Amino acid sequence: MAVFQHPEFDHHESVSYFHDERSGLRALIAVHNTNLGKGLGGCRMWPYASEDEALTDVLRLSRGMTYKAALAGLPQGGGKSVIIGDPRKDKTPELMRAMGRAVDRLNGSYVVAEDSGTNVADIRLMAEVTRHVGGLADERAQAEGRTGDPSPATALGVFIGIQAAVRYRFQRDDLRGLRVAVQGLGNVGYRLCKHLHEAGAQLWVTDLYAPAVERCVQEFGAKPVAMDQIMALDVDVFAPCALGAILDDASIPQLRARIVAGAANNQLARPQHDRALMERGILYAPDYCINAGGIIDIFYEGPGYDWATVEAHLRRIGTTLTAIFERSKAEGRPTGAIADRMAEERFRR
Ligand code: NAD
Repeated sequence: MAVFQHPEFDHHESVSYFHDERSGLRALIAVHNTNLGKGLGGCRMWPYASEDEALTDVLRLSRGMTYKAALAGLPQGGGKSVIIGDPRKDKTPELMRAMGRAVDRLNGSYVVAEDSGTNVADIRLMAEVTRHVGGLADERAQAEGRTGDPSPATALGVFIGIQAAVRYRFQRDDLRGLRVAVQGLGNVGYRLCKHLHEAGAQLWVTDLYAPAVERCVQEFGAKPVAMDQIMALDVDVFAPCALGAILDDASIPQLRARIVAGAANNQLARPQHDRALMERGILYAPDYCINAGGIIDIFYEGPGYDWATVEAHLRRIGTTLTAIFERSKAEGRPTGAIADRMAEERFRR
C-alpha cells in the first residue's frame, strides 16, 4: 500500500494517518493541492473493508476537490478525509472530537466539511476543537432558518447549467416545453424539478422511493417513469441526480437525450465514456462543473452570508460551461477532458 506508487496518487501534497486510542479513531486526510487556497473537502465515514480502500478513496476524492474548486473559480484547494468505521454503529462524540483534533494538526492546510456518513452535528463537534471547518451555518443563519445544507445552491447551479447547455445546443433561452428526464428526486433532484417546472419545462421523473415520485407528480405535473426506462426516453435533457457511474457502455447507446446535465457525482463509469457521448452527438455538462453549487455555497457560509452573492457566483457555472462547450467544439475533444484542462490551467500556475 505504498502511497507514492499508488495508481490514484497524483502529486498530493500530504497524506496523513491519524489514530486515537481512546475513541478508536482511524482516519486518513489527504491534501491534494493548495496553490489556490486551503484544501477544502468533506469527511467521509465508511466501513472500508481495508486500509487500501480508504487510501484509494481519499486520494481520488481529494484530487477531485482541487479540480472542482478551481473550475468553480474559488480561491480554494482540494482535500478530503475518511474515517474508517460504520457511521451507524461506530460514531461517538469523542470520535468526532478526535477527528477535529486530527484536522487541527494540519494547521489549516485542510478544512473539513460534511460528506456521506457525517452531518452538521458531527462537524459542530469537530468545531469544538478546531477552527478549520467549512459549511457551518452560524447563529444568524440558524435564526434565518438556514442549516448550511448546500442542496438548494447545488440545484440552482444545475438549473443554470441546463440553461447554458440548452442555449448552446438548441440556441434558445426559453425553457418552455423543454422535455427533461430527472433520475433521483432527493435533496437536489426535487429542487431542480421545481426550477424546471417554474421555467415551463415538461418533466419525466423516477426514484427508488415512490413518495418522492408522487410529490413531483402532484406538485409539478411530472410523468412517472420506471427506473430502468428513464435513460432511454425521447427527451431533450437527461438529468442524473441519483447515482454515479450511470453513463457506461450499456447506457450510452440507449440515450436519446441531446444533453446530459445533472447533479450526480462521477457520472461517467470510465473516463473514455466522455468521448463515447461526444461521438453520439450528446452534449455532456461535466458533473463536477455543473454540480459545484454546493461547494460555492459552503465557501460563502459564515458571518456575512448573502444569498445574492452566492447566486451571482452560481451564474458563473453557466459561463464556465459555455466556455467548455465552445472549446470542446474548437479542439474536437470531449467536454470532460476540456474541463480537466481548464481546471489544471487555473491551479497549476
Ligand atoms: P439524496 O440522497 O437526497 O437523493 C438521491 C435520490 O436518488 C434519493 O431520493 C434516492 O431514493 C434516489 N435514487 C437512488 N438510487 C436510484 C436509482 N437507481 N434510480 C432512481 N433514483 C435513485 O442526494 P442529493 O443530495 O439529492 O444528491 C444527488 C446526487 O448529487 C448525488 O450523486 C450527490 O453526490 C450529488 N451532489 C449533491 C450535492 C448536494 O449539495 N446535495 C452536491 C454535489 C453533488
